[in-house]
Amino acid sequence: MTAVDLYQQLIIEHSKRPHGEGLRDPFAAQAHHVNPTCGDEITLRVALAGDTVEDVSYDALGCSISRASASVLHDLVVGRSLEEVVTVRDAVQHMLTSRGEDEGDEDVLGDAVALAGVAKYPARVKCALLSWSALADALLRAPSPT
Ligand code: ZN
Repeated sequence: MTAVDLYQQLIIEHSKRPHGEGLRDPFAAQAHHVNPTCGDEITLRVALAGDTVEDVSYDALGCSISRASASVLHDLVVGRSLEEVVTVRDAVQHMLTSRGEDEGDEDVLGDAVALAGVAKYPARVKCALLSWSALADALLRAPSPT
């Protein structure tokens, strides 16, 4: 099995059995983002405990890439500090907008490295970034920890 096949397999698995899917209460903030070029939609909620992301819950509609990306996001972000989340998000964004030059560091990105191949298809990059921009938006809206 080549790396590309393995990555496709990971995307299919995440989109079929999304981790952490569903909207849960209580939550600190919510964001709804749409990717009109593909028809993907996500409603994403963050729950915080101090400066730690306690939960990310979401309802994602759309293509397998956007749904897999939300599932991977859940795995990567829950239980992390806000500072770590920014680092991971920046790494995902850099990889996805590198046009294939940045293959991603698996130590930082976990299963998100499976999305590296998407960077070569500009039309799909927005699918993969949708959940991450919704996350950034929700975190901006969340009341800052006191
Ligand atoms: Zn899409």
